[in-house]
Amino acid sequence: MSSGYANDLRSDTSFIIVPILTVVAIAVSVFQIAFRMSLAANWSYAVMLLGALLVGNRTWRLLRAGRNLLAAQLFLSSHVVMLALVHFQDWMPGSFMPYLYGILIVVGSMMVRPTTGFWVWGWGMVLTGTAVFLGNDLLFMEVLQAMLPPTLVNLLLATATFLSAMEWQFAVESVSELHRNVQRRRDELFSVQEELQDANVRLQNSNVALEEARLAAVNERDLRTRFMNHVSHELRTPLNAIVNFAHILNRGVRGPINDGQSDYLTRIRQSGFHLLNVLNDLLDMAQIEAGEFRLRLEPVALQPICEEGMTNVRGLLLEKQVLLVRDYPDDWPLVMADKIRLTQALINLLGNAAKYTEEGYIALRVRHNGRIVTIVVEDSGIGIPPEQHEAIFQEFRQVDESAARRRVGTGLGLPITRHLIERHGGTVRVESDPGSGSRFIITLPVAQADVETVPLVANGYTTTEAAAKPEDIGSA
Ligand code: ADP
Repeated sequence: MSSGYANDLRSDTSFIIVPILTVVAIAVSVFQIAFRMSLAANWSYAVMLLGALLVGNRTWRLLRAGRNLLAAQLFLSSHVVMLALVHFQDWMPGSFMPYLYGILIVVGSMMVRPTTGFWVWGWGMVLTGTAVFLGNDLLFMEVLQAMLPPTLVNLLLATATFLSAMEWQFAVESVSELHRNVQRRRDELFSVQEELQDANVRLQNSNVALEEARLAAVNERDLRTRFMNHVSHELRTPLNAIVNFAHILNRGVRGPINDGQSDYLTRIRQSGFHLLNVLNDLLDMAQIEAGEFRLRLEPVALQPICEEGMTNVRGLLLEKQVLLVRDYPDDWPLVMADKIRLTQALINLLGNAAKYTEEGYIALRVRHNGRIVTIVVEDSGIGIPPEQHEAIFQEFRQVDESAARRRVGTGLGLPITRHLIERHGGTVRVESDPGSGSRFIITLPVAQADVETVPLVANGYTTTEAAAKPEDIGSA
């Protein structure tokens, strides 16, 4: 335990005690000299007067210079000696003067350290006893007898002072320890605060950089969207003209055409259509990325949408031995959807089924339980390895380049489909294995107004069964 704080307090105490005791000593000496009207008879008081002045002055200077210990030692020892001189000259049996050491004992403990009271007591009693012995015509035993009461009383006072000074010192040191802890915590807090300020500045800088990056991204996105819109418009118009004029020519409107010409015109038309589809996909993707893809949601009947998808896929299967299966519910729910976009999503899945199925069947299965409608596009085609089930929903991802899969496509159909369905509040996932066909499962929320009106018995299932059945067809 450091005693620095206690020493500071002791030096503060000395600054108060030294002037007071000096004034008292001077006052007593002057009073004695004046009272007895004789300097010769009071030479010890004269010494005390001078001594108090000189010692007081010197002690004060030492205190001001920060040499507290030396100041206290000088002050105490000189006053012990001066008091002994007064005893030498002026002691009388029963005198109260030896008890005056009590003041120096207390002051000593306060100015130096708790044990100093004992030193003052020891030296004070020895010097006073000697002075009394030398200054009076007394026997050693008589001096001993006269000095015994003040010696015992002063010892008691030194002990009591020692104990309370120890207690005081302990309390002061505890407080000072506390004070040091507080200072340490305050320093820590300051450094944390500085670090926080630094972090704050860094954060502000990165915020500025982020804002600049965001603005740059927004600018770039706007530019890209404008560019896409422009390009798609510029491409779409001539493409439409090519497709339409090829069709008109093929019908012989401008004169007869032979089989070879008709074959070429059909190919021109098909390629034109394909290019239009690719263009539409690219435009959709650009809009999705730009966050500008808008849906017009309203309660729409699902059956016409499914039928449109089936009609469309039939056109793609003209040269294949593929059976089209409709597995529909008895009652159809209304769904909250953008009719055009939902049709587009369904045509994407049915188109893929047609693309990757050479024989067997393509089935469109629909179920609902009053809350959720489940649409499954199932085929008996080449299938998809499980490790590709998530990848195919990412942009420009196709399963592989093997001959069996080499079909025209951009790899944008499924990402767009998933985005469309999710924007409808639904989900789309795939179950498939190579060689075992594929099942693309869409779930969509039924339109809320419809929940009241649609019968809760769907496709022969009871209400409770119906809640499970749409999931069943998803995982069968
Ligand atoms: P693409 O324009 O290439 O068809 P999609 O995003 O629609 O792009 O499909 C991504 C890939 O997923 C396809 O290249 C194909 O390999 C695979 N795929 C999609 N649907 C089927 C399916 N019904 N059967 C087998 N593979 C499929």
